[in-house]
Amino acid sequence: MARAFVALGGNLGDMHATLRQALVALAALPQTRLLAHSRFYRTPPWGMLEQPPFLNAAAALDTALTPHELLDALLGIERAAGRVREGERWGPRTLDLDLLHIDGVRLHDDRLTLPHPRIAGRAFVLLPLAELAPDLDLPGQGQVDELLGALDTSGCVPEP
Ligand code: ADP
Ligand code: MG
Repeated sequence: MARAFVALGGNLGDMHATLRQALVALAALPQTRLLAHSRFYRTPPWGMLEQPPFLNAAAALDTALTPHELLDALLGIERAAGRVREGERWGPRTLDLDLLHIDGVRLHDDRLTLPHPRIAGRAFVLLPLAELAPDLDLPGQGQVDELLGALDTSGCVPEP
């Protein structure tokens, strides 16, 4: 089993329901245990700025799936949530599941880069991830709480 961290986000439809369903789907993956998830954060849009705010969270898993099996599983959960992969990159989406990190894994190919290359600088990823693993060292980027300390997180508000 390897410890893995997943980022969840969406800004279309009933985002609370979508994120909750995504957590249920993560917990139901084969050879996988959902260990914990963060609070849900309301966060400002990024990339394309003219779009609704996002709801973001992070989850910690133990899994015996390979990195690519886990990626395929995440893409399957996105599809089940009705995500349509067309139109603008970084545009509105019902559900985005990014594989942030798997302990001991560094890889880069045409389908998967680990750790996810754009964690540093993103408060909407680091804030929920820091609830689960503040001491986590992301090879090539840095330690989660230190990366977070460098950011302005005032726009990201945890849901009660
Ligand atoms: P983004 O998350 O950057 O908005 P997408 O969700 O559309 O973009 O992902 C595009 C592709 O990124 C996926 O089909 C996947 O093959 C690739 N990818 C590469 N590394 C990762 C990763 N660590 N986590 C998730 N997807 C990744
Ligand atoms: Mg994605």
